[in-house]
Amino acid sequence: MNGPLAGRTVLVTGGNRGIGLGLAHGVAAAGASVVVWGRDTAANAAAVSQLRQHGGQAAAVACDVGDPAAVEAAFVSSLELTGRVDAVFANAAAAAPYKPFHEQTDEDWARVLRVNLGGVVSTARAAVRHMLARDGGGALVVVGSMAARTGMRWYSPYATGKAAVVGLVRSVAVDHARHGIRANALLPGWIDTDMTAATPPALREQVTRRTPAGRFGVPDDFAAAAVFLADPGNPYHTGDVVVVDGGYLAV
Ligand code: NDP
Repeated sequence: MNGPLAGRTVLVTGGNRGIGLGLAHGVAAAGASVVVWGRDTAANAAAVSQLRQHGGQAAAVACDVGDPAAVEAAFVSSLELTGRVDAVFANAAAAAPYKPFHEQTDEDWARVLRVNLGGVVSTARAAVRHMLARDGGGALVVVGSMAARTGMRWYSPYATGKAAVVGLVRSVAVDHARHGIRANALLPGWIDTDMTAATPPALREQVTRRTPAGRFGVPDDFAAAAVFLADPGNPYHTGDVVVVDGGYLAV
């Protein structure tokens, strides 16, 4: 395989569909071997067969990222498959119950933050420990949301988790820049995936009208950003927040 990521291995959590699969396609087309994680083994297998069409290696590991022990085990399994991991996209996240802040229960908060914050912490920690151990640097990319920058109506646990992971990224960047480990956040705008499939028509129309690009994003819109963020040819790019939102936040 040729391309800027030839010879590299990239791991994408939640890489079996949606934005994660868009990220995985991007890096696979750029020559990387790819490992995707997700809980649904049928979706994992389908993603692997799509990703192999780029001509490189692809594999999947079943993992619930909300379980720290499962993340440790999945990272070991991924290394057994690939030998090394050069870039990790901590992309997996859960949707939140849609209701105002005062109705969100402790259980609601725990369920969302277990995956959207705890899952990112566990994934990032496993990635950084591996990158330190093999002493070759690497790239960590955490997929946040523009909800890290704005409030999000009736979605407080989700927006809080997304703001928290931007803080995590900046701290990892500060701690590990001198080890050649880069950490950046990627904030999607409104993207057509399973997560947004139930968006009420009136809200969809409002979002489309407000978005300068005039449409929802699609997973393919993340392919080029994935390559840029994983590319070891960007050694000085760390601690940043990259927004891919069709200009939504610029208005
Ligand atoms: P989808 O719901 O389409 O896909 C979610 C992915 O995450 C699936 O691959 C799913 O696989 C995986 N996943 C969910 N929970 C877990 C878990 N506990 N353990 C492991 N994997 C899990 O979401 P999107 O593609 O829309 O979202 C991807 C990222 O982008 C998320 O971080 C999301 O918050 C963010 N985002 C999305 C936006 C949008 O408009 N779509 C906007 C802003 C941010 P499986 O079910 O097999 O586990």
